[in-house]
Amino acid sequence: MKTDILIVGAGCAGLYCALHLPADRQILMITKDELTHSDSFLAQGGICMLKDESDYASYYEDTMHAGHYENNPESVEIMIRSSKDAIRDLIGYGVEFQREEDGSLSFTKEGGHSAKRILFHADITGKEITTKLLEQVKKRPNIRILEYCTMVDLICRDNCCYGAVVRDSSGEIDRIEAETTVLACGGIGGIYRHTTNYRHLTGDGVAIALKHKIAVEHVNYVQIHPTTLYSDKAEERSFLISESVRGEGAVLYNARKERFVNELLPRDVLTEKIYEQMKKDKMPYVWLSMEHIPKEELWNHFPNIIKRCREQGYDVFKECIPVVPAQHYFMGGIKINMSGETSMQRLYAVGETACNGVHGKNRLASNSLLESLVFAKRAAKDIGEQKQSTERVIDEVDLTQYQDKEAIEAAYKQTILNEIERLNNYV
Ligand SMILES: Cc1cc2nc3c(=O)[nH]c(=O)nc-3n(C[C@H](O)[C@H](O)[C@H](O)COP(=O)(O)OP(=O)(O)OC[C@H]3O[C@@H](n4cnc5c(N)ncnc54)[C@H](O)[C@@H]3O)c2cc1C
Repeated sequence: MKTDILIVGAGCAGLYCALHLPADRQILMITKDELTHSDSFLAQGGICMLKDESDYASYYEDTMHAGHYENNPESVEIMIRSSKDAIRDLIGYGVEFQREEDGSLSFTKEGGHSAKRILFHADITGKEITTKLLEQVKKRPNIRILEYCTMVDLICRDNCCYGAVVRDSSGEIDRIEAETTVLACGGIGGIYRHTTNYRHLTGDGVAIALKHKIAVEHVNYVQIHPTTLYSDKAEERSFLISESVRGEGAVLYNARKERFVNELLPRDVLTEKIYEQMKKDKMPYVWLSMEHIPKEELWNHFPNIIKRCREQGYDVFKECIPVVPAQHYFMGGIKINMSGETSMQRLYAVGETACNGVHGKNRLASNSLLESLVFAKRAAKDIGEQKQSTERVIDEVDLTQYQDKEAIEAAYKQTILNEIERLNNYV
């Protein structure tokens, strides 16, 4: 197969990037699973936007504070300053956000935020955004999407990328030749036992980058979400109890149903406090109570969470629910510059798989959808401005080396775990 631009991943970063690439270029998007199975569809809480200039300093400070001031200031500034533009695009695509009675946008708050600056669509913001992006992509005649098509390696020579080796839905190994390749493969949650991520998101882009010595950064910066619904059954993935539930007034209790912490601390700090409390109580969870949230607000804002808790036997209107931390987000990734370029020529990375330091050591809630969009658009613009190359290397890649699926998956998982361990030991 041949294409001008190959995008590996069809979450919000890959889709939004595709929408901003020149219409005269052939774009092929591949996704490892069903089209709707990306973390972008799972995002509950919302997406940040700079409301007006008066909030700039505090939004910037909240992002830096949550990131332990290890954030790249330039990335943070770009993200915040570009937020209105991204939201304008989304609204233009038909994305509906919650509005006040006068028609103005409603804002909510989550942990680590000192002001209400998060736009939301009930508790399924990611689904609303990604569905609308997908609708737009499907209208573009120059964009084609292949489901159940997995990148198993990059085709590269002399630090230049020429496409990818893929496994299709029938298990066949093939090569996709591309002038430019964009990695938009999401996070690494799938390599963890307890995660809020889709299981097939196993950090393939990062493992392959490590294999080819493409620069990566902060691979050990992994965010644990403080509150996922506890279950003693071996579940597919942990169900997230969005931070905005706490933002709207839910409180955490210990085993004696006493409050033990400020629920709006940044995620990593709160996670530590919850682990400490679980240890003290000798319990595998702590309690979360939504009793202080007005009933109407609960119904309107969190219908999906109410439903899911019901399915697991909890009535959030009458009782506390058990919650436990789980792997949630990956701050590190393939190192990119402000235009999404990696250290390899003709290879870009966007979204959660990429790292430009915007989140520092710990992501502030509702900054990741935004970051994915802002930098995906910048990458698309940069790709569009590159001179088209006539050079197309038909590489003689030995495809037989990719036959053993399980062995490759195990090797990639181990590559990431080794890197995390190496960096943790280095510190
Ligand atoms: C439960 C949950 C709730 C969240 N809530 C919020 C929130 O409220 N606000 C917020 O800002 N962020 C939230 N996030 C984080 C946010 O959803 C993600 O960071 C963001 O959606 C990442 O987008 P992405 O496009 O980079 O990756 P994804 O949306 O995860 O897409 C990754 C894509 O890559 C494909 N892929 C992966 N590997 C391969 C491969 N080898 N070959 C081919 N395709 C591949 C996948 O199939 C998928 O299509 C939440 C995350 C979760 C899990």
